[in-house]
Amino acid sequence: MKVFKFGGASVNSVDRIKNVAEIMRRFPNEKILVAISAMGKTTNALEKVVDAFYAGKKDEALQLFEQVKQQHLTTAKYLLVTNYLSCEEQLKNFFTEVEWLLHDKPVRDYDYYYDQVVSVGELLSTAILSSYLNETGIHNKWIDVRDVFRTDDDFRDANIDMEFTSSKVQSSIVPLLEETDIVLTQGFIGATDENESTTLGREGSDYSAAVFANMLDAESLAIWKDVEAVMNADPKQFPDAISIGELNYNEVIEMAYYGAQVIHPKTIKPLQNKNIPLYVKCFLDPSLPGTTIHNKPVHHLPPIIVLKEKQVMLEMSSTDFSFIGEQHVGHLYNLFEKLHLKPNMTQNGAISFVCVLNDWPEKIEKLAAEASAFLDVQVIKDLSLLTIRHFTREIFEKLTKNKTILLRQQTPETIQMLMTETRMAP
Ligand code: ASP
Ligand code: MG
Repeated sequence: MKVFKFGGASVNSVDRIKNVAEIMRRFPNEKILVAISAMGKTTNALEKVVDAFYAGKKDEALQLFEQVKQQHLTTAKYLLVTNYLSCEEQLKNFFTEVEWLLHDKPVRDYDYYYDQVVSVGELLSTAILSSYLNETGIHNKWIDVRDVFRTDDDFRDANIDMEFTSSKVQSSIVPLLEETDIVLTQGFIGATDENESTTLGREGSDYSAAVFANMLDAESLAIWKDVEAVMNADPKQFPDAISIGELNYNEVIEMAYYGAQVIHPKTIKPLQNKNIPLYVKCFLDPSLPGTTIHNKPVHHLPPIIVLKEKQVMLEMSSTDFSFIGEQHVGHLYNLFEKLHLKPNMTQNGAISFVCVLNDWPEKIEKLAAEASAFLDVQVIKDLSLLTIRHFTREIFEKLTKNKTILLRQQTPETIQMLMTETRMAP
């Protein structure tokens, strides 16, 4: 059997949903579990609903939710004839779940409400998709993944209880796939043992699909995206980016670590554990080869470029010329953890410690304030962090031309540079 994942962009309109049906039609008589994201920007829209609700603006929250409702009802109306009424009923049940909650006053954590509201995006999109596929002869069974994916109650970043979930997959999904070719369900969401909805972190549907692939011993996972393949750089930043036909798990983990937005970083481990190949395929042109990601060595990779903009450098030095030791550094890492900050680069010298972070102004301010209790702190903003894997002299020179390099780190495979946009006056 196979696992497919369709992201938000692949189901963001009537035509795109029809296109998913065309793709599914290319795989007749195959057993496939399909995990789907919320339509287009629904997750962002639902985040706004939660924000309004939590700020005590009930009417605004309900009004924003009304827009999400209408958009889904309209999509369903355009797509469905015979299945419209049953789908509408299913959608309305989900609407009611959210509206009940919006009528109350918030008494629990923001993150709890976030998950109860935002999780509905995936329930709505899959309800419509499933009805449409069934109506057009692509028979499938819709599953509420909250009955299968058991998680802890770390809302917005929930962790899957692998043991429980795996036994649920065996007892409920495996038999279903014997009866029917296609099982269609949600990515990104799960539920606690008290039936509270949870989410697995933004863009978490890739991860859900990988967990399914692992637990079902799938022959492969295909992630259908709007790009031709995994590219060696973000084409929005580097118009001459090229497609990469083949990668291995290690390379993808490295790329994700340095910030390439290819695949959710958690996706690889469940696949790697069972040696399941991952295909990144283009839903706009399924005949394109895409990218195959597997366990074997891949040679002759092009330089892989990740450029992170809006970076901040904090240079922290001892106030009395004493060495920066474990104590200072330990203290700083405690601050990172407390503020949920993850440095993109660090460098330790005799009397200074430098770290590079995404510019999250409130957090950076807090960090600088707390660190200045025991170190001198200097903050430099508007920097970019360039990472090149498999670098060559040529690409290095091309990408650092007219830039001032403030920091540089290098291993045999990878070079990283923290740079200012223009060359500073000497
Ligand atoms: N819908 C969720 C998001 O936009 C999950 C996903 O698409 O993977 O973050
Ligand atoms: Mg998405």
